[in-house]
Amino acid sequence: MTPTLQEEFETVVRRNPGEVEFHQAVREVLESLGPVMERRPEFVEMGIIPRICEPNRQIIFKVNWQDDAGRVHTNRGFRVQFNSVLGPYKGGLRFHPSVYLGIIKFLGFEQIFKNALTGMPIGGGKGGSDFDPKGKSDNEIMRFCQSFMTELSGHIGHDIDVPAGDIGVGGREIGYLFGQYKKMTGRYESGVITGKGLTWGGSRARTEATGYGTVFFADEMLKLSGESFDGKKVVVSGSGNVAIYALEKVNQLGGTVVAMSDSGGYIVDESGIDLEQIQDLKEIRRGRISEYADANGSARFVADGSIWDVPCDIALPCATQNELDETGAGSLIKNGCTLVAEGANMPSTPEATRALRAAGVRFAPGKAANAGGVATSALEMQQNASRDSWSFEHTEERLKEIMVGIHSRCSETAEEYGAPGDYVLGANVAGFLRVADAMMAFGV
Ligand code: GLU
Repeated sequence: MTPTLQEEFETVVRRNPGEVEFHQAVREVLESLGPVMERRPEFVEMGIIPRICEPNRQIIFKVNWQDDAGRVHTNRGFRVQFNSVLGPYKGGLRFHPSVYLGIIKFLGFEQIFKNALTGMPIGGGKGGSDFDPKGKSDNEIMRFCQSFMTELSGHIGHDIDVPAGDIGVGGREIGYLFGQYKKMTGRYESGVITGKGLTWGGSRARTEATGYGTVFFADEMLKLSGESFDGKKVVVSGSGNVAIYALEKVNQLGGTVVAMSDSGGYIVDESGIDLEQIQDLKEIRRGRISEYADANGSARFVADGSIWDVPCDIALPCATQNELDETGAGSLIKNGCTLVAEGANMPSTPEATRALRAAGVRFAPGKAANAGGVATSALEMQQNASRDSWSFEHTEERLKEIMVGIHSRCSETAEEYGAPGDYVLGANVAGFLRVADAMMAFGV
């Protein structure tokens, strides 16, 4: 990092004590920006870096809710409205016990550049709660979502801030949240939230979009060396909607997903993990991944250990932040993995990223490779604004064009900055430039 950027980074650390994931995300971006600041000294003059690292607004609120036994619980809700120069704040809501301000800020910061890379008119934001949906009944989830939205509704709107899902927030939760927003405001404002059900303003292919998009991005990387997914062995961590639809697209392109995981462990099935069984297990029955191995002779479940020990050609980390560490990266390298594309947000630690890149493994950061989800959210907003509903084929085609566009934007920028094949630099610089140019245009 250049001395000026190092100072800016230290200010961020001082100003946001203890928010280690946020620091990590900021450092990762600033490390790429040295050459940009050299070429564009006006960015220094106009204080673009400190301005981009400070959220426009951070909302923290109390969420009281009652469980089925009548007991009242209190959780904390967050919405960080980070940057809105390219459009209304846009980004998901995460419900997970690990959530605190530092997690939401790292996600919101990433979202600024990811959303910019899509080329669509969306700013960056993120929200969520430390509420743990695991083991809760439908009614408890409903009451929590209603209480959460009662507090949030005054801060969002289709031209202001448009939430969506993230970990722990899927179609069911979006329904309860949208229903409560409608009740609170008396408005049928479809574009206020994305990830909606198909009969009430949702977009086809939104559920599939993040996973499909990650595979489309990885496929573009493979094409550069005349390769494809055909015949490739793939490890996909996680078993949420990103992982499940990455599996589906890998299958469609002729690859085989041999391992998937959840918080309890991982499964290995050399004959290829079955999409329908995983969908039934995770989307309908909300069960544990170990049950897949109970029902399939060809599969085994590993409770302790690392999914990255499973030999593969391609790894798609699709679970959560910092799930792939240096040891995991070492195993992937040793076993001959040649490409890693991040379906989750910041799943690789800085040490893992460094090790992979030093070993010549092609590496796509999440802010580029997983942008298909939010891009399709922007397509959902377009459909809502025109009161239209597109076919699956059309929406998927648009998604693919967007991912191909992000891939070329990243690789062209990397080349322009003298680092061909460096998708980290390409994504950070291309995303940053789009935001910084708009900030310059708007003045102080
Ligand atoms: N949570 C997703 C992400 O990390 C999607 C957000 C959205 O659709 O707004 O990009």
